Order: sequence, then structure tokens, then C-alpha cells
Amino acid sequence: MKKEVILIIIILFLVSCNPVQVSEIPVLKLNEDTTIYPEDTTLYPEDQINDDLKADDTELSIEEQHWKRVFTKVFQPVNCPEPRDPASLPDGYYKGQMIDTHVHIFSLPDGAPGHPDEYYSGTNLGIAKSVEEWVCMLKAEGTKKAIVFFPVAEPIVEQSINVVKKSQEKYPHLFIPFINTPAPDGNATVVAKELDEMLRLEPGLFKGYGEIALYSHSDGLDLPPDSQRLTEIYPIVKEHNLIVYFHLGFGHKEALERAASLNRDIPFIFHGGNLYNIPENQAGISHDEKILADIEDILDHNPNVYYGVDELYRGDWLLEPGNSKVVLELELDLSLWKGFIERHPDQVLWGTDRGVSASWDKEPEVALILNNYTRAFIARLAPSVQERFAYQNAEKLIADR
Ligand SMILES: [Zn+2]
Repeated sequence: MKKEVILIIIILFLVSCNPVQVSEIPVLKLNEDTTIYPEDTTLYPEDQINDDLKADDTELSIEEQHWKRVFTKVFQPVNCPEPRDPASLPDGYYKGQMIDTHVHIFSLPDGAPGHPDEYYSGTNLGIAKSVEEWVCMLKAEGTKKAIVFFPVAEPIVEQSINVVKKSQEKYPHLFIPFINTPAPDGNATVVAKELDEMLRLEPGLFKGYGEIALYSHSDGLDLPPDSQRLTEIYPIVKEHNLIVYFHLGFGHKEALERAASLNRDIPFIFHGGNLYNIPENQAGISHDEKILADIEDILDHNPNVYYGVDELYRGDWLLEPGNSKVVLELELDLSLWKGFIERHPDQVLWGTDRGVSASWDKEPEVALILNNYTRAFIARLAPSVQERFAYQNAEKLIADR
């Protein structure tokens, strides 16, 4: 495995008028290989897995043995520190509840069954990743719930839905599952009929549909929110009482407004600054004033549209692979986002866009530093807006679903 060292430096610049007292600058050094998997086998010894599998395997087909083995490891335990109680933070930090509205999770291996683990992608659930890593990340920082985008695709639709079902059985109040349905042909989503069939396998399991990435992919498949494929999907979304989560693409402002105005009973959450072309030399998602003005325009005219703010940390996508240095500057984030959030107090949602992009983004140490930073940010919002941004708007959206 490649021994690439990733160094993250997280610095809080706090001016003297800021009530937050930071006695020292937290510096966090992470190694790309510090993740518990696959090196740390002490948590769930291979022998035990093999014993579990040996029991009555002669009766099972190769495919059944494969899935039994994979599912044995989907919830493999991880070392997790004691949760930090937000109430223990000093003055100047928001100490209330939080719901993260943007978390990704890996898929199961979709290769033909029967091969050893090395054959499959190193990042699949049940091969090298455990749902418990996501559970630990949220619990360590004291986040109450998270919208999690679970990938569901052929040829492993039933198994993928089974992961969601088992996750909900084990942690019924932690994940708010959204169905993420990339199409095998490269489209951002399958068509309405296929989505409907997937949802009917476990009615009521999913609370939302997304995140669907509508921006142009390398093969040029652009999918505006008012495209035929999505227009046919909205009745299915309504029938299953789902929330929609989009990552908009270039020029999609008017298309989203058309879709939202024709479907006022569907809540649309979106994020991402791809409304405009991002220069190649610019990391992550850009948010200059021009983009924010357009996003505000969408929110002003569409009460059923919400914006997921996961671009704190100066407008860059913090958890981008290859980022070697992250500088957190509270005053800069406040200057960019405080007014935006306070002008739309019922349409903004806190999120982080983490889970699959960088191998270290689920580490509890990272979670704590970012969560503390976000709590310092939230504490500087108008008091009447803090809880709405942190969790209440999200809670309202998922109520009765
Ligand atoms: Zn996105």
C-alpha cells in the first residue's frame, strides 16, 4: 500500500473580540495508513470470521458464502474513543444538538462473488470498511443524526438495500438514509421505473433520494433538474414521500427553479457551486459573491428549496483528497456565510460532505476538531438562527417521513 503521508494543519485564527478562548493551536498530523482497516485485525480476528463461515458452508453456494463473508464484516467493530459531550465545551461554542445533512458512505463490492478480498476495491463496505467507522465519527463529536447517501445499483441492489436495513435495525435513530442511484450507463441516476422498483423492495426505508450529482461528468452527461429523466422521477419521489438532494451543475439555476415551482410539495436540498465553471487551478467548490447571490435568489423565490452549507473553511472543499493543509479562519467563514445563513434561517442546513473522499475524514480526531470549529462558527450566528441551522430545519424536513 502506498505510504503517502498527509499532513493537515488546522489553525483557528480568532480575533480578540471573539469570545472563544483557544489556549493552543491544534495541529493534527495524520498518516494515510492510520485507518484501522485493514491492518488492525485485533478487533475482529480473521480466525473468528473463518470460524463463523466454516459452520455450515458446505450447504451454501459460492454466492451465498461470498455475501455471508461480506456481511460478517459490514459491521466489524472499530476502536472508538468516548464521545465528547458538547456541554463540556467552554463558553463561545454552540452546545446544542446537530444533524449533519451531508454524509457519503461506500458501497458493497459489486464484482462477481467467490474471489478473495484483495480482488475487490479496497474501499468497499464488508471488504475494508465498516459502517461502524461512520457511527464512531458521528458519536465521537456528538452529532445526533446524519443524512447518509447509500449507493444502490445493479447488480447488487438487494444486498445494498440490506446494508441500509441492517444499519437502521442496529442504529434506528442515527442515520437518515437517502437512496443514491447511479446508473450503470454513466447517468447520474437510474430512470423512474428502476428507482420505483428499488424503493418497493423496502417501502418506507429511505427518507430521501440523492445525492444526485447533476453536473457534467467526463462523458458529458449533463442532467438538469427539469430534464425528462428527472421530471419522470418526481412522481415516484412524491409517492414514496422523499426529500430530493441535488448537486447542481453549470447553468442549472433556472432548471432547478422550474422543477421546484412545479413540485412545491417536494423539498429540494442542493449544494455545490458548480452553477458556474470552476477554474481548473481552484480546489473544491468555489463560493464567490456572484454564486451566493444566485443561490439566495433561488431560496428567495422557492420556499421548498434548501441549501446545504458544507463549505465552511473558506469556501474550499475541505475533505478533498490530496489536500495537505487546511487553514480554518473563523472570521473569513463568518464574513462569507453568516449573512447568507441569517437571511434564510429556515432554508439552510449544516452538512460536511465527508465519508468517502479522504481516508482520514472519518477519524474521530478530525471529526472533533471540525465539529468544535463548526460549533464556534454557529455560536457567532444570531441566537434565533443557531439551532435552526444546526438541526431544527433538518428535523422539520424528516418529520413524518
Ligand atoms: Zn456534492
